[in-house]
Amino acid sequence: MNINLQTPIDYLKGVGPNRADLLRKELNIHTYQDLINLFPNRYIDKTQYHKISQLQRNNAEVQIVGKITKFEEVAQKNKKRLVATFQDDTGIMQLVWFRGQKWIRENTKLNTPYVIFGKINWFNGRFSLPHPELELVSEHKKNLRLSMQPIYPSTEKLSNKGITNRVLGKIMQQLFIDSKGKFYETLPDTLLSKLKLISKNEALINVHFPKNSELLSKAQFRLKFEELFYIQLQLILKNLIHKSKIKGFPFSQVGNYFNTFFKSHLPFELTNAQKRVLKEIRHDLGSNAQMNRLLQGDVGSGKTIVAFMSMLMALDNGFQACLMAPTEILSVQHYNGLLELCNNLNISIKLLTGSTKTLTRREIHENLENGELQILIGTHALLEDKVKFKNLGLAIIDEQHRFGVAQRSKLWKKNTSPPHILVMTATPIPRTLAMSVYGDLDISIIDELPPGRQAIKTVHRYDKNRLNVFKFIRDEIAKGRQVYIVYPLIQESSKMDYKDLMDGYESIVRDFPLPDYQISIVHGKMKPADKDYEMQRFIKGETQIMVATTVIEVGVNVPNASVMIIESAERFGLSQLHQLRGRVGRGAEQSYCILMTSHKLSNDSKVRLETMTRTSDGFEIAEVDLRLRGPGDIMGTQQSGILNLKIADIIKDNDILQSARFYAKKVLEKDPSLALPEHQVILNTYRELGKYKNIWNYIS
Ligand code: ADP
Ligand code: MG
Repeated sequence: MNINLQTPIDYLKGVGPNRADLLRKELNIHTYQDLINLFPNRYIDKTQYHKISQLQRNNAEVQIVGKITKFEEVAQKNKKRLVATFQDDTGIMQLVWFRGQKWIRENTKLNTPYVIFGKINWFNGRFSLPHPELELVSEHKKNLRLSMQPIYPSTEKLSNKGITNRVLGKIMQQLFIDSKGKFYETLPDTLLSKLKLISKNEALINVHFPKNSELLSKAQFRLKFEELFYIQLQLILKNLIHKSKIKGFPFSQVGNYFNTFFKSHLPFELTNAQKRVLKEIRHDLGSNAQMNRLLQGDVGSGKTIVAFMSMLMALDNGFQACLMAPTEILSVQHYNGLLELCNNLNISIKLLTGSTKTLTRREIHENLENGELQILIGTHALLEDKVKFKNLGLAIIDEQHRFGVAQRSKLWKKNTSPPHILVMTATPIPRTLAMSVYGDLDISIIDELPPGRQAIKTVHRYDKNRLNVFKFIRDEIAKGRQVYIVYPLIQESSKMDYKDLMDGYESIVRDFPLPDYQISIVHGKMKPADKDYEMQRFIKGETQIMVATTVIEVGVNVPNASVMIIESAERFGLSQLHQLRGRVGRGAEQSYCILMTSHKLSNDSKVRLETMTRTSDGFEIAEVDLRLRGPGDIMGTQQSGILNLKIADIIKDNDILQSARFYAKKVLEKDPSLALPEHQVILNTYRELGKYKNIWNYIS
């Protein structure tokens, strides 16, 4: 009854080898199944026809019946464009092609009625329509007109080679004819009836050939739910399998280190959120399964102490622990911060980075292997093959979004059986993204800042206010405070950016002269040792101003610094701004963040600046950031595999995502191996989907 959906697309009537090749290359369509899952981007109304005399100058999509009376080639610098004169009974307009001109000339008839479709432009005093869809009226009449005509994803190559939206629609129609519109159901009855979802068949027909708008939304809902449901199922299943298959080291006791630290050396009372998260971690570490936990918390929420106390749990059970940070500065800072705490407890701790001297390095390697070294802090250098632990029990990754999944898994392999893993994020990740990208991890959230923090006053100032800003800096320094001035450095290699930085530095040196003012500078081109030296001077309070690039973005902690000036703030992304602002407000004093910009601001920049001055809630900022940049940009390419959704939209379909995750969890709680008859259809679909690489194998 059913046609085989794994049939190569070449076999479909109307496709043929050339088109099949293009479909494969351009849209990744290999089989009938892939074609069915090519969902329209949007729908347009093709029951309406327009007259040239009534067109509006609004860039709208129009459909017009008329004739091409002549073709003309118009020279254009080193290229040519093809211009056709097109007329109906009310007026004349132009059709324009910049590409694929040969094909158009050879395949288009003059003085023959055509229906054209596309977006109009008002150009040089007349209407023109670039790259219109063309269809002979005689053909057009044969086809059913729909008030919701699907518009499929396309590429330049496809339309140049004549695979227009209309052709795609026809191919799709053929597929439905061949399959007699019969497709297997892919969700169980229980879910269909509980969520009042329409059947797979109805959904597919109505998403490609909608009967009315109500059925179209039902079809979209059902298909989005299905897509998200199976992704969540996969992620949750992975987590379950992981927990049952991979034995962790059970840290059976909370011992001396932890208890001594907790009783005698804790520098402050933990927040309730920190306590709760520690309990969650403790629970994982005490169980038989390997921990894979994501620790989310806003800037300054106190993740480090949680990390440290987790390491103590490892040490108490005779294991080693490590903490990996993305930059040298940050690892140095972690090291210095923890060194003191470790000395109190008689714990051996070392720092390993790219600039560690060979001799020290060798010593570290040795002591790691013989177990004398208990805690290792460092950068990527930790991942090198030479770094071998005697018994690594816990690996912590700080500021995860800088590291790829590959690096996460590399840490895993540092032991015969994998250590517990705690991943910490620099900035909160929107819930929907966390659910999708880290859906296989357990998530802990610190949603509370340590007490007594004053909100950082954030303002936006234009360059012309600079004198006032400088006066403000002087006043704050006079009160004993320290100041960061940050310049954008979007590309490490960009000469322009360095010039801006050095110009800025010089002007600041002029305005804040010696001996009253001492100024540090830190940027990516400096040697690590020099960077560290400057950083230390600032930390010790020997310098009052730190001029820097975004190398100080993450983690740096100088509580006496209370002013953050961000130059050309319009050039920074939201999460960067939020991170940078998080460098101040770490002490008892009122802190300030001043966002300096020029007068020219894009709409997005305006939203970013407005968001920064309005709120300091990292979770809220993350949501705005997601809307501005989209999921792929936020998570980076390494993790974007999971975000290549066919029909659902991670931002807009948040509610469907939540519900999909809820039901996927529920199904697996009841029936983790999907063995029940009622879940047969889930198991089958899941297996079927497992053949597809793009979504399912995104983590090695
Ligand atoms: P982040 O979560 O950004 O890594 P940190 O761990 O660097 O934050 O902590 C920020 C600052 O807050 C540090 O100076 C830290 O000592 C301090 N801190 C952390 N937890 C508490 C707490 N419960 N009470 C008071 N201060 C705290
Ligand atoms: Mg931190």
